[in-house]
Amino acid sequence: MPLFRWNESKSCTRETALKEWVKQGGPCLEPLLTGCAFQTLLADSYHAACRTADMASRPYSLHASVAFLQTTLGQPAEALRAVIGGFHDKRLEEYRIAFGPRDGNTVFHGVIWPLLGAEDETSDVVGEIESLLRESGIKEILVHGQQFPYEFCDDCGAPLYPNIEGDSVHAEMPEQNNAPSQTLH
Ligand SMILES: [Zn+2]
Repeated sequence: MPLFRWNESKSCTRETALKEWVKQGGPCLEPLLTGCAFQTLLADSYHAACRTADMASRPYSLHASVAFLQTTLGQPAEALRAVIGGFHDKRLEEYRIAFGPRDGNTVFHGVIWPLLGAEDETSDVVGEIESLLRESGIKEILVHGQQFPYEFCDDCGAPLYPNIEGDSVHAEMPEQNNAPSQTLH
């Protein structure tokens, strides 16, 4: 017996099923996820679905971070700068994208872009990240060619992010309305 809608008839492809799922399923999920941004994906076999969600969550977290910073700082995306660096353990493990003010060298927030599947340093991952950042409205993007060490904060375990000078630093939101900074150590 067909398990999924797209198994049932030739006229329904996975693409059309996804379109209908977003249109019909999205509004049903919305009341359950009040105040959350979400993206509906197709059902799939367990490991394939996990992999698809991992792939889709990378661009999602870039867009979400730019939206979060614009709201929190009350500034447009053009006021931000993104710095991209490749972080290496024994090999290239992931790219880290730091967000900060366009006119300063501090890092407010960061996003990790893990390599998945067969991706390695020869894949054009940086090109993909850059075009997603531009889609989000970021105009100032710096890509470091150097290899960053795979470092985390000794105190809280948070990943360190590249700043414009090519150092790995702790991301820290600016103090606002006299509220203490979000990092307490
Ligand atoms: Zn820390």
